[in-house]
Amino acid sequence: MNTSHKAEIAVIGGGTVALSVATGLMRLGRQVVVIDEGDGASRASRGNFGLVWVQGKGDMLPLYTPWAMGAVEIWPDLAEWLQDFTGIDVALEQPGGLFLCRSEEDLALRAKKMATVAQNVRGAYSYSMLDNKALRELVPQIGPDVAGGSYSPYDGQADPLRLFHALHRAFGKLGGSYLPGAGVKAITATARGYRLETGCDSIEAERIVLAAGLGNADLGRMLGVDIPVKPVRGQILVTERVPKVFDLVMEQARHTPDGTMLIGGSWEEDSGHDTATSQEVTRRIASDALAFFPFLKRVNVLRSWGALRIISPDASPIYDEVAPDAFLVTCHSGVSLAAVHLETVADWVDKGEIPAQMADFGLRRFHRAKAAAS
Ligand SMILES: Cc1cc2nc3c(=O)[nH]c(=O)nc-3n(C[C@H](O)[C@H](O)[C@H](O)COP(=O)(O)OP(=O)(O)OC[C@H]3O[C@@H](n4cnc5c(N)ncnc54)[C@H](O)[C@@H]3O)c2cc1C
Repeated sequence: MNTSHKAEIAVIGGGTVALSVATGLMRLGRQVVVIDEGDGASRASRGNFGLVWVQGKGDMLPLYTPWAMGAVEIWPDLAEWLQDFTGIDVALEQPGGLFLCRSEEDLALRAKKMATVAQNVRGAYSYSMLDNKALRELVPQIGPDVAGGSYSPYDGQADPLRLFHALHRAFGKLGGSYLPGAGVKAITATARGYRLETGCDSIEAERIVLAAGLGNADLGRMLGVDIPVKPVRGQILVTERVPKVFDLVMEQARHTPDGTMLIGGSWEEDSGHDTATSQEVTRRIASDALAFFPFLKRVNVLRSWGALRIISPDASPIYDEVAPDAFLVTCHSGVSLAAVHLETVADWVDKGEIPAQMADFGLRRFHRAKAAAS
């Protein structure tokens, strides 16, 4: 039997991005339903590294740098609110972060990237490039053969699964409706908004938010819009519990509050939708990790996993009203950007007016890039 639902706003997707926006909308007093697929669905939100990160963001789209800086600046407010409202500590730490480079060639590329990022905010971005000696003064456990790395004080980490849990709990506690096992299969424009069909449910909403990660490509087709997101697999290793030996967070390795270490991650552009791990990549990640941290030779890896990143052509977020009252929200860094999704992006969907700092994140930039290339 088909069940009918009505809501002011329907958010399609049940990952970190969808729940950040949906929770923000509930805080603004909107009546929201979140429509999600089943337990077997692919979810980057369950397989990520948990960095709350700015380093490197904006090398392909300049306005991404101030956007990411703004996001990490207000992250402590989000963590505090989630702790007070849901009782869940999302384990935010912002001690600063390092990106390690094994070779001089990688280090030179990194220096170029960081200079571009700093230029995007006219130098109002603090970072330093470090050689091996400077790195080892900061973290003595780093190996002698590592060429160097970049350091920036804005970076940190949170526990991504606790964040995911806390957002779901906050959304429910605010009175939001969650429809699981309900993949949207058809979207039709109506006189008062949209009708969404899942096969079991029919949902009428005045506004819709497309926040379904890689599923946004299919949702776009239902609206006649090309949404250029593709999967890029990342594999991550988890060690047994080890004593904490450094405080800084690194893009290649981090201590978790549970005592394990996460080691990552690969960037596999030809993965398609396959989340499998492979021996070849696991071996490469482990070999890099041993060069970065020789002490890991005595530490066991307990498990590994693969998950799919949601990547746009310039690896930056896309925010756009793709049809009247149909808002697209997608990005690679859903953990890092959670606080601005809950605040600024929810406000945009609520009011329907895009704020200046988000105005150039739309799909038009890809059309312009295509036109310039042809
Ligand atoms: C290996 C790896 C490492 C990462 N590391 C970091 C990091 O350190 N820091 C960071 O900020 N980010 C990181 N990310 C990215 C982060 O995980 C994602 O940005 C974030 O989880 C994306 O969330 P999402 O909600 O957009 O998508 P997902 O978590 O993929 O969720 C998509 C949801 O949409 C639902 N869905 C799809 N189609 C439909 C449909 N038709 N109808 C209804 N529902 C649908 C699915 O069921 C799913 O629940 C990493 C990702 C990976 C893979």
